[in-house]
Amino acid sequence: MIPYGKQDINDDDINAVIDVLKSDFVTQGPKVPEFEQSLKYYTGASYAVAVNSGTSALHIACQALEVGKGDIVWTSPITFAASSNAALYLGADVDFVDIDETSYNISIDRLNRKLIEAKSIGRLPKVVIPVHLCGQSCDMAAISELAEKYDFKIIEDASHAIGGKYKNEPIGNSTYSDITVFSFHPVKIVTTAEGGACMTNDENLAKKMELLRSHGITRDENLMQGDSHGPWYYQQIDLGYNYRMTDIQAALGTSQMKRIDDFVKKRNQLAARYDRLLLSEDVTIPLQHDDCYSARHLYIIKLKDGYDHRKIFEKMRDGGIGVNLHYIPVHLQPYYQNLGFNQGDFPAAEDYYSKAITLPLYPTLSEDDQDHVVETLLNALK
Ligand SMILES: *Cc1c(COP(=O)(O)O)cnc(C)c1O
Repeated sequence: MIPYGKQDINDDDINAVIDVLKSDFVTQGPKVPEFEQSLKYYTGASYAVAVNSGTSALHIACQALEVGKGDIVWTSPITFAASSNAALYLGADVDFVDIDETSYNISIDRLNRKLIEAKSIGRLPKVVIPVHLCGQSCDMAAISELAEKYDFKIIEDASHAIGGKYKNEPIGNSTYSDITVFSFHPVKIVTTAEGGACMTNDENLAKKMELLRSHGITRDENLMQGDSHGPWYYQQIDLGYNYRMTDIQAALGTSQMKRIDDFVKKRNQLAARYDRLLLSEDVTIPLQHDDCYSARHLYIIKLKDGYDHRKIFEKMRDGGIGVNLHYIPVHLQPYYQNLGFNQGDFPAAEDYYSKAITLPLYPTLSEDDQDHVVETLLNALK
């Protein structure tokens, strides 16, 4: 089976991990700050807080922005459920903004209209979480303009997007947002096995997130109430979690970051090759905006009307192609249906779901394998 995604680990990566295993610290040594440094250097953001998953990153990002009971958080229905679960963890209400039919990212038009309506009924969101689907940035300039107008905060869910650019600037620099979140799960662009990070230019938010990733505990006397009891002393000043990344993971991440541009270049070459091979075929290839350089985490095609989506998907799986579907609209999940969402709530997302297929794409995918994917697809379409 040709998988839909796959990590690329080389000897340098392996040796970086072995070095940590032979060192004094397997966690909380020098490697996590080194990895954070590499993320800051690469993206241009002022602060990086590495954590043990993208989900944890979303959770503490929401908490740092003081999302809680009575607050409302909006995101896209076409995302991994973690984007909206993070707000639910904190007792907030979640709602979705339907997608744009061509980019599959959150629709600016629909966001605009939903904000006007929400304002009229006093239900404006506290935070909006745009998701850069497949690695292509959302229209962040437009979203940040709306954030000013309607006074909401922005967390970019850039789990797919490290290595990509928006208006020639690296995604993650958080120019148009309060916090940008990355995931380093093995199917993503660079990996730390499990892992994630929060990028921000706001020192206060960075400090809050550092506290939250480690139980809300500080050893900084300036943050303590009263005097220190001695050199052993620490204080818990907030309710946080154990969301720390290990040095083993961070060393892998720093090593992977040295190759990120190669990974993304290779993904773009393969995506362009898919475009060429599929251009004259009866499928919709993913549209790319001029001001975006996508990290190309996923290559998603859409079937045209009249095709049997499930049958084509099954034929590809039967043919040894590990196609996938990103994503089942979050509002259709039973848990979300129990919260009151219904089929029909977000028609563009649901239409997308009835047609989308994720084709295999990863840096080590060979052209022969890619040809085999295309051939299997074209046979299935017949
Ligand atoms: C992978 C992913 C996450 C969660 O990341 P983990 O590291 O798996 O916790 C969140 N949002 C999106 C869009 C993702 O693809």
